[in-house]
Amino acid sequence: MKQLSAMLLSVLSLPAFAQDFSDKITIVIHGGAGTITRANMSPEKEKAYKAALNEALQKGYAVLKKGGTSVEAVEATIHVMEDSPLFNAGKGAVFTNDGKNELDASIMEGKTLKAGAVAGVTNIKNPISAAIAVMNKSEHVMMAGAGAEKFAKEQGLEIVDPSYFYTEARFKALEKAKATDKQELDHDAKEEKQIRKAPKTGGLLKEELIFTEGRKFGTVGCVALDKYGNLAAGTSTGGMTNKKYGRIGDAPIIGAGTYANNATCAVSATGHGEYFIRSVVAHDISALMEYKGLSLESAANEVVMKKLVERGGEGGIISLDRNGNIAMPFNSEGMYRGYVKGDGKSEVLIYKD
Ligand code: ASP
Repeated sequence: MKQLSAMLLSVLSLPAFAQDFSDKITIVIHGGAGTITRANMSPEKEKAYKAALNEALQKGYAVLKKGGTSVEAVEATIHVMEDSPLFNAGKGAVFTNDGKNELDASIMEGKTLKAGAVAGVTNIKNPISAAIAVMNKSEHVMMAGAGAEKFAKEQGLEIVDPSYFYTEARFKALEKAKATDKQELDHDAKEEKQIRKAPKTGGLLKEELIFTEGRKFGTVGCVALDKYGNLAAGTSTGGMTNKKYGRIGDAPIIGAGTYANNATCAVSATGHGEYFIRSVVAHDISALMEYKGLSLESAANEVVMKKLVERGGEGGIISLDRNGNIAMPFNSEGMYRGYVKGDGKSEVLIYKD
């Protein structure tokens, strides 16, 4: 009897039969939501955004294909968007009221429920990597300002002069926001009228592409499922143009802008941060799945298309579950978004229809 129970115990303590998720690997991204319509989109602008989104997706997909983890895929994908001036994250981040760039980022791992975040950092080239370092190399979840910068430097992350984040387009957007004393959500649709032709090429200058884009929340985010069946979510942003007094948005707040749990889903959000924080958007989607047994799609729609709309919160989310199901609802006019699935099926979308 003793022998039998010992045998049973040893069998039970064997690692659970590892399911292979190779055919389910998936990567999903967003590059911000807002007033993005066909009417205010030029072919050049559309091409530039689609190319950047595709590049980011393919980078992350290659990591997953090679057997990398979902956290590694999220990091590689977000790097591409942080390094592109087209998005409000890393290079291309919006300006604060004092004319600075203060960046927020976070990461969460669905298997361990470990998370990391940085907020209000000014000299870390890729804030998503700093968030990952906080998760993996510190005993904390969130670090802010000078302390986070010191930690990132100690971890050997790339530190840049704050002027690296300057782009003329975002600076002009700040001047305009200040003139009206408004806290702008990245861009205003009226700027569309100011499209100018680049003198020599006849095409739009890169900075003009950004400046004329229409109001949008240019935050970037990524959710991924790796071949080990583990989900991860990450978000990176410059926040809101003309933000004041150390304002922190939803992006670095676990449960608001970012959440991942293998039992439910991975979520990354973009939109008016204050509303997303108060509605605890990312965790609410996960909770609806966990407590109410809703599907990913129903849970995501309930929060983004109902609750947020009722409360006046504009924006959207990308989300992914362990079966490779995707939901990308947004209540604004458009959202830069895309995915690549295990079978290689890939799509990049911008508009509602
Ligand atoms: N959610 C971000 C914030 O409020 C803005 C954005 O999505 O672009 O900081």
